[in-house]
Amino acid sequence: MKLKKKIASVDRFEWRCQRRNCKRKKSIQHKSIFTRSRVALFNWMKFVYRFSQGLRLRQLDFMMDNIAGSSRTLSRMAKQLREVCVTAMERLRQREGQRMGGRRHSVVIDESHFRHKRKYGRGRMAGGWKRRKWVFGMLGVQSTRRRSGKPVLRLVEKRGRRELVPLIAHHVKRGSCVISDEWRAYRNALPQLGYRHFTVNHSVAYVNAETGAHTQHIERAWRSYKEIVWRLRGNRTEQLLIDHLYVIEWHTWLGGKHQHGPLGRLLHDMRLKYR
Ligand SMILES: [Zn+2]
Repeated sequence: MKLKKKIASVDRFEWRCQRRNCKRKKSIQHKSIFTRSRVALFNWMKFVYRFSQGLRLRQLDFMMDNIAGSSRTLSRMAKQLREVCVTAMERLRQREGQRMGGRRHSVVIDESHFRHKRKYGRGRMAGGWKRRKWVFGMLGVQSTRRRSGKPVLRLVEKRGRRELVPLIAHHVKRGSCVISDEWRAYRNALPQLGYRHFTVNHSVAYVNAETGAHTQHIERAWRSYKEIVWRLRGNRTEQLLIDHLYVIEWHTWLGGKHQHGPLGRLLHDMRLKYR
């Protein structure tokens, strides 16, 4: 088949068979990530662009811009792009292990519930997902830079040493300076594994200036991650929350690193997933 112009169609092009007297044609969306949607490619492109640019998207904005006709379509589109990010992050993990820190670096660790804010928490939640699990976050910070580094965010059953120490050992390089809240179940295990461990006591005024600044990093980061998840209602189910955490990781680990920016990276990852 050959790509032919067809002005009357929504995508302006279609595939047409070149044999004589054969009338067969196919949509150019056939057998691609776009197949099942009835959204024009031009609108898909707008959606892909916005998804790559930031997580602060509201469905209403897309409806108003006529990118998709219904919120169901939008949800499905967003899900497809999230899956692209999940696959890309899994690939990165297998390849490089997603490691952070090092002799001159600090990693701030913390745990947090990603519950809904009260005002969104009305009514019963679908699926009986109780959100008792913790999101365990590790965030690499550099003292020379004010910007927060790359996060690793994992959903854990409990915040005990058995759950968290293996995650730290896997993602944080030996010799790193690990900063956490004052009391933690894993505190004794860290020096044995070759980390320098510092704790921050929030109730004490004379916090060490540098570690204090680092914990501010993670507190700011937590706030923005939670805002993203809440805005997108990404904690309705456990799987949804896991996917959203992946997307947050994708933005800093991959999206921000591509020579053509997050859009370039997203297109690259879409191509890889949908060969
Ligand atoms: Zn034919």
